[in-house]
Amino acid sequence: MASLVPSLGQLVSDATCLFKKLFNDEAPKIAACAPGRVNLIGDHTDYNQGYVLPMALSLVTVVVGSASSGQEAIIVTASELADEPKKVDLSLPNEGFPSFPGLPHWANYLRGIMHHYRALPLPGFRAVVVSSVPLGSGLSSSASLEVAFYTFLQQLRPDDGDKVAKAIACQQAEHTHAGVPCGIMDQLVSVLGMEGHALLIDCRSLESIPVPLSDPGLVFLITNSNVKHSLASSEYALRRGQCEKAASILGKPSLRDATVNDLEDSHSGHGPTMKISDPSMISKWEDFHYSRVSTYSYCSTLFVFPVPAWHCNKLTLYSLSPSQESRAQLDDVTYRRASHVIGEICRTLKAAESFKNGSFQEFGKIMVESHNSLRDLYEVSCKDLDDLVCAAMEVEGVFGSRMTGGGFGGCTITLLKADAIHRTIQNIQERYSGTPTFYIATPSEGARVLNLS
Ligand code: ADP
Ligand code: MG
Repeated sequence: MASLVPSLGQLVSDATCLFKKLFNDEAPKIAACAPGRVNLIGDHTDYNQGYVLPMALSLVTVVVGSASSGQEAIIVTASELADEPKKVDLSLPNEGFPSFPGLPHWANYLRGIMHHYRALPLPGFRAVVVSSVPLGSGLSSSASLEVAFYTFLQQLRPDDGDKVAKAIACQQAEHTHAGVPCGIMDQLVSVLGMEGHALLIDCRSLESIPVPLSDPGLVFLITNSNVKHSLASSEYALRRGQCEKAASILGKPSLRDATVNDLEDSHSGHGPTMKISDPSMISKWEDFHYSRVSTYSYCSTLFVFPVPAWHCNKLTLYSLSPSQESRAQLDDVTYRRASHVIGEICRTLKAAESFKNGSFQEFGKIMVESHNSLRDLYEVSCKDLDDLVCAAMEVEGVFGSRMTGGGFGGCTITLLKADAIHRTIQNIQERYSGTPTFYIATPSEGARVLNLS
C-alpha cells in the first residue's frame, strides 16, 4: 500500500497544538506552507543551466507562528529526524549584523533564509515547523522548509512578492548557510508548483511551462529506497566541479551551451576512441555493452564511441583500432559526466513533448535511458536504486522508471497505468531487499499563505 499522507488540515492542527503547548496557550496568528517535489526527468541538469521537469507534491512543510514584541526569533521543529536541539533562539539579522551558520544544523536553513530575506529588518517572532516531507529522501524537505519559512516571513514583513527572486533567495540560503551547492529546481518548483501539472523549467531563463498531468488512467509512483549513502553530498560537489571543468575545456559558459559534436571533438579518453564505419559491428557489442550503447551519440553512417577503459580488452577481440583523430582535451571521466548532462537536457525536452502528445511509452523509454545514463555516465545511482528500477520494469503496465534527485539513495519515480499500481508495489516489495515506502505523486500547488481562522 502507498503511505497515507497527512492532510494539510491535520498538519496545521498539529502545528497549532504544539505552538499553544510551547507558548502559554496562545494561538498562532499566521501560517504558510510549501511543498516537497519529485523530478520526473532532468537530473543534474539544473546547475548546468539546462531543463528539468519536476512536480510539486502534496507532501508539505507548514510553519505557524506570531510576531512578538522582542528581538527574539524562537523556532521549534516537530521533526524527529532533525538534530538537537529542536528549539532554537536565533538572532535577527540586520545590516552590519549578518546571520552565520552554526548548530543545530537544521536551523541553518532558517538562518540562511533570514539572512537572504529581501525586506530586512524582520520583527521578533515565534514559530513552529511541522512537515510531511520525509527528511533526506530526495523529495526536497530542505527546499520546502526554506520556502515555507520565507512565505511565513512574508506575512511578518512583506517583500515585493517577486516569486522567482524568492526562489533564488532560498537557493542562496542553502548555499551559504547549509553548505549545499544546489541548483534552482527545488526552490523554484516549491514556489511555483501548479495543481495537476508538472513544470518544464528552463534553469537558465528561469521560465517555466506547465505540463498537464491530468490523465486519470496514469499514475506516477514514488518509491523511497529508505537508504542514503554518506557520499551523496561530497559526490554532488565533485560532479558540479566536473561539469564546470568540462564546460571550461569546451570553451562554453555552461554545459547547456555544449552539443554532442563539441563533446566528441574534445574527447581524448584515457581509453581509446573507436570509429566504426560498419554499423553492423554494434550488434556484436551488445553482449557486453548493451545498456551503454543507447546512451552514446552517433550519426547515420559513422558511429563514434568513447570506449570506457574497462571494455578495452574485450574490444580488442574485434580488432578495432583507436582513432588518431580525437583531440586530447577531455579525460574519460569528465567526458562521461558531460555526456550525461548534454544527453539529459535533450531527453528532458523530448520527454515533456512526449507527455504532451500522450506518448507514454516513449516517455517511459526516455525515463529508462535517463536512469542508465545516471548510472553509467554520471555514476550517481547505487544498487538499491537500480534494483528498484528493475523490479518496477518487470511489471506489465509500467511505462518507465528511474532514480530521481541527487542519487546515492533516495527515491525512484515510475510511470504506470493506474490499474497496475497494486501489482507494481507488490513486485517491488518482493524483489527489493530493503524496506521501501511508496507515495502516489499528486501534482500540487506551490507555496501559499494559510488562513488560520
Ligand atoms: P532532502 O531535501 O532531499 O529532504 P537534504 O539533505 O537536502 O534532503 O535536507 C534534509 C535536511 O533539511 C534535514 O537533515 C534537516 O536539516 C533539514 N530539514 C528539512 N525539513 C526539516 C524540518 N521540517 N525540520 C527541521 N529540519 C528540516
Ligand atoms: Mg534538499
